Amino acid sequence: MSANNALHIAVLAGDGIGPEVMAPALEILRKIEAKSDLKFRFTEAPAGANHYRETGRSMPDSTIRLCEEADAILLGACGLPSVRYPDNTEIMPQVELRFHFDLYAGVRPARLIPGVPSPIVGADRHGIDLVVIRESTEGLFASMGKGVVTHEEARETLVITRKTSERLFAFSFRLAERRKARGRLDGGLTCVDKANVFKAFAFFREMFDEAAARHPDVKTDRLYVDACSAMLVKRPWDFDVMVMENMFGDILSDMTAGLIGGMGMAPSADIGDRYAVFQPCHGTAPDIMGQGKANPTGMILSAAMMLDWLADKHGLESAAEAGETIERAVDKAYAGGIKPTEFGGSNGTADIAKAVLAAL
Ligand code: ATP
Repeated sequence: MSANNALHIAVLAGDGIGPEVMAPALEILRKIEAKSDLKFRFTEAPAGANHYRETGRSMPDSTIRLCEEADAILLGACGLPSVRYPDNTEIMPQVELRFHFDLYAGVRPARLIPGVPSPIVGADRHGIDLVVIRESTEGLFASMGKGVVTHEEARETLVITRKTSERLFAFSFRLAERRKARGRLDGGLTCVDKANVFKAFAFFREMFDEAAARHPDVKTDRLYVDACSAMLVKRPWDFDVMVMENMFGDILSDMTAGLIGGMGMAPSADIGDRYAVFQPCHGTAPDIMGQGKANPTGMILSAAMMLDWLADKHGLESAAEAGETIERAVDKAYAGGIKPTEFGGSNGTADIAKAVLAAL
């Protein structure tokens, strides 16, 4: 935080619909600033496929430096299928930031907002309110850029370390405890793995069990990822916090975003011991970019998560309240009949932003 107590936010709008959803999120934060004692200083910086196309780099050093100096990092979405490295992989500064800043806890909440249609029968009655915690610096992604491909075979190596897993589980238990304190009494923490087949996941589960013994107040469960997937689409309301390896989390968090209406609804945060990046779960959605159709809800809710994290980090009660105010405003906008084009409605980016701003 700077001398005048302004929270310095690094803004990386990115590619595709990234800038389209970032603009309303910033507008909402500015309104929060006008309504509260919070002050923000936004600094925009380049990152992503367009920057790579122009310069040959996914992001300049100045962007990394800005992220190091800022209190938090807001990111739209990065990467375009048409822009690739020579080895045919996409430009993903968001993944590079996870490694650079050791953002091991990928927090992917999936809460069904009342009035938003879920594809799951009964979800409107039971509700859905779960959080996937995706380890974000190792697992199969530890192999990113290091895989070996010959004409005959390809190999990628999955890595699970004690150092990261223990911090990941400590973070997950703390979140489960906070949610319990906020009223989620029937919840708990589920470890999702494939411990019946792979030694690495047996190791992962063993460390989870050790952490569970240190947190007897939290109800715990252990599930194999395949069985867990089936349960998630049958009874998602039975889940509270779930913790898993990077690749499993990559897949399951997109699925849980689908359970709550679509990619555009889901916020996310990548959190480490010191730094954190907040971005919607969705990608750059090139199929709808430039058409005013992008749903900014996930981005707006990611900004609310950022305020909650800043509140926790700096002991700022007003930031926690502001985060909740944004969530309530989003709920009110949907209760008022907003229906994004994403799930068959007629409301685009501008309508949704306007409705949330009005509800604020
Ligand atoms: P990535 O690999 O970066 O996750 P992707 O192309 O696999 O990218 P998305 O960009 O998230 O995934 O898009 C998946 C689908 O969801 C697309 O059809 C896209 O139009 C839709 N979508 C994603 N985000 C939004 C949004 N904010 N509003 C409306 N539709 C969206």
